[in-house]
Amino acid sequence: MAVKITDECISCEACAPECPVAAILDEGNEKNPFDNLFYVKPESCVECIGHADEPRCVEACPTEGAIVWDMPYTLEFNEHYRDGHESGVYNIREHKKKGLMLPEQKEQAFISEVSMSDRESNAVIGRWS
Ligand code: SF4
Ligand code: SF4
Repeated sequence: MAVKITDECISCEACAPECPVAAILDEGNEKNPFDNLFYVKPESCVECIGHADEPRCVEACPTEGAIVWDMPYTLEFNEHYRDGHESGVYNIREHKKKGLMLPEQKEQAFISEVSMSDRESNAVIGRWS
């Protein structure tokens, strides 16, 4: 991903309309692996690169801790997303011909300034710090 929505989410619906790449699914969406949370599709999120200076979902979110950093959606983290898909953390889109759209199929843009330690620890994204 990129960014991830946590169980702090109150399903207020503020973030999804702000996403420039329609990466956020509401809790009723059949492609959302979670019942009570909004969900960011990691194979779609570009961390708002080319659209805004900061993640727009975070700007819209009223709930501290609901949106955190995740690993970049790059080949280096292919196993991270594949394993998460297999364990139900992610629901990666399946392409008819290409198969699972893991980073090995299509990497996504990410903010290189974000430290790997912040990503590994799912640190809350900057707005409240
Ligand atoms: S960081 Fe940007 S692209 Fe990613 S889910 Fe949030 S609004 Fe969408
Ligand atoms: S804006 Fe925040 S609290 Fe509201 S649905 Fe999105 S992640 Fe959840």
